[in-house]
Amino acid sequence: MPGILYVVATPIGNLEDITYRAVRVLGEVDLIAAEDTRAAQVLLDRYGVRRPLLSYFEGNETERAADLVARLGAGEHIAVISQAGTPAVSDPGYRVVVAALAAGVRVEVIPGPSAAVTALVAAGLPTDRFLFLGFPPRTEARRRELFAGVRTLEATLVLYEAPGRVGETLADLAAALGPRPAAVARELTKLYEEVVRGTLPELHARYAATPPRGEVTLVVAGAPAGAALEAEVDLTAELRAAVAAGRPLREVAAELALRTGKSRHAIYQLGVALKKG
Ligand code: SAM
Repeated sequence: MPGILYVVATPIGNLEDITYRAVRVLGEVDLIAAEDTRAAQVLLDRYGVRRPLLSYFEGNETERAADLVARLGAGEHIAVISQAGTPAVSDPGYRVVVAALAAGVRVEVIPGPSAAVTALVAAGLPTDRFLFLGFPPRTEARRRELFAGVRTLEATLVLYEAPGRVGETLADLAAALGPRPAAVARELTKLYEEVVRGTLPELHARYAATPPRGEVTLVVAGAPAGAALEAEVDLTAELRAAVAAGRPLREVAAELALRTGKSRHAIYQLGVALKKG
């Protein structure tokens, strides 16, 4: 019988943020593959877990994934943990999950903290739809391209960023998305936890010269409703002109829907919003 691969979430700062199940599983497996064995040892010591550790990080992920799958095939139960939070979320772990599944090994996720979801909730921005962008590209051109591509998306954006790059990323976000509400969530669950809220230009002004210290997650409000429609055709101008000419909104919405292939209902709603000012 092959073993089970357990993908175990660990704290993003506060060592108490771990589940009973995670501690039990870590204590029962044959091997723990850890991104940072020193950090893992601190956590395991705290909970009295003594199991063999193997280092598993981005640089050796591909080759280690093959070793781990071979050991799983031989019946060992293995846990994967990353330096913080949920493995495979902008962290090593993804490749071993894919390799294990391809080999027919059972994969169980032991859920727990992730900086992305913690920051999203702490930011106080809409949570019903969000897009996790991971770490934005390091080159300015690619970063700008990414942000331009999500400009009309009605979903809150969540990004990881290294503290030294927060200033330039906020500058590019402000340039692409305008003065949207956003938050810089720093050192979540730790002693110096801080969530600074403001518009993108305000946050850029605050962090451009003095980068935040510690671990940072950025959260940015999505586009206002109707932004996608407005972006492609100048629907706002069309609707305003038609309404000013005294044409019924339903008729105009139907006509514009035919012209653009967009939803008649969405255009009608945009017209109603414009009428209300
Ligand atoms: N897998 C992890 C997770 O699920 O949260 C994320 C790992 S990723 C390599 C590390 C990034 O997560 C950091 O650069 C930072 O953007 C974010 N992060 C991790 N811990 C954080 C914390 N305590 N507060 C704010 N952001 C954090």
